[in-house]
Parts: sequence; structure tokens; C-alpha cells
Amino acid sequence: MEDKFGRLEERKRMVERLKEELNISDRVARAMLKVPRHLFVPPQYSSEAYFDYPLPIGRGQTISAPHMVAIMCELLDLKPGHNVLEVGGGSGYHAAVVAELVGKDGRVVMVERIPELAERAEKTLRELGYDNVIVVVGDGSEGCEEFAPYDRIYVTAAAPSIPEPLVEQLKPGGKMVIPIGDAIQELYVVEKDWSGELRKKRWGSVRFVPLVGKHGFRF
Ligand code: SAM
Repeated sequence: MEDKFGRLEERKRMVERLKEELNISDRVARAMLKVPRHLFVPPQYSSEAYFDYPLPIGRGQTISAPHMVAIMCELLDLKPGHNVLEVGGGSGYHAAVVAELVGKDGRVVMVERIPELAERAEKTLRELGYDNVIVVVGDGSEGCEEFAPYDRIYVTAAAPSIPEPLVEQLKPGGKMVIPIGDAIQELYVVEKDWSGELRKKRWGSVRFVPLVGKHGFRF
């Protein structure tokens, strides 16, 4: 059986592999099964869209590997209705998966600093009907005050430390997933308790492009 986007069998195989290797939940598996990753990658990489590695999306940036998207979604514990901030939206693929998980009553605000990538992501997301994703061009290390506060924040570029504006824009009881470091990077899950205190847990080593901006690395 095919769906309207095509390549459903390849998507099924990708999700089955992720389930076997990472034991991902049915909710995340269903969301990833719905999103046609091949429409988020440049045409020359389309044939590799369902392999489990990052791919170039232009301007020296990458779409994250499917296993990283799955892991971050699990760590975020996304619920229907959540208001979510993504810093480093890139192709828009990860935002689409999160949009599936938060549903029509939820919202994803995706901030991308490179206008060309943001424009392409917005076009893809609109064509696929992801009306609950807002695409913003800007420095996501400053968050996005306009739509704050957020139930969940995730950063898909490695920061030198946790940017203070992101802490401020996270709701009490909220969660943030963020890679920290330069040559050596660790993924952290940061929880803000009801008194505003932060609890940080290290998940493990990762490899992301750098977060470039006021509260990121400056080049
Ligand atoms: N999640 C993306 C996807 O699904 O395609 C992949 C993101 S890619 C690994 C990281 C992205 O972060 C790049 O597109 C890069 O331009 C962006 N980025 C880096 N620093 C940023 C900043 N300060 N604000 C917003 N985006 C930033």
C-alpha cells in the first residue's frame, strides 16, 4: 500500500529499524511514519532519505539523522497541545515530526538563522499542510519571545552553554533538550521545576553543527 506522498514502504522499514535498535515508542514511530523525509532533502539526496544518517541541506548544514530525531522526541515527552520551540529548524523535518506529536491543538515555532533554509522549510511544510508550524528567521539562541512561554524547547545545534533566554522562555514544569559542547558534545535534558530551579541530566555524546549567535558560538 502507498500513501499520497509515496515511499511508504521505505519509511516503514526505517521506523521498524528504529524500533528494534532504540525501542522507540509507538507514538514517535507513528509520527515518523507519517512524515515524508524524502520531501525535506535536496533532490540529489532523495534516494538516501530513508537511511539513518544526516544529509546535506545546503549552506553547510544538515538534516539530522532519523535516530537523533527519534531520540530527541522521546526525551522531550511531547504531548498533544504543547507549545514547542525548535532552535535550528533547518529543513523543517524535525518540526514536522514534532507537529504530528503535539497535534492540531499544539504548535511548533521553528527558528532558523539562514533565510534560504527557512524559506525552503516553510514551503515544504505549507505544501504538506503543517499549519501548526510557525517558521521564524532569526537567532534562535535568543529564543522567540513572541510565542513564549514554551512547554518544550529543543535545540538542534550545539551551544557553548544553555542560553539564558531559552531558560527564561521555558515554562515551569517544562523540558529542554540541548547539545552542549564544541569538539566534544553531550546531549542534555534540562527540566525546570515549579520554583524555576533547573535539573540537568546528561544523555550521552552527540555530533551537531554549532549554534551560531549571541548566546551560541560567534564566528
Ligand atoms: N532539525 C533540522 C532538520 O530537521 O532539518 C536540522 C538542523 S541542523 C542539524 C542545525 C540548524 O541550526 C542549521 O540549519 C543551522 O543553520 C541552524 N542554526 C545554527 N545556529 C542557529 C541559531 N542561532 N538560530 C537558529 N538556527 C541556527
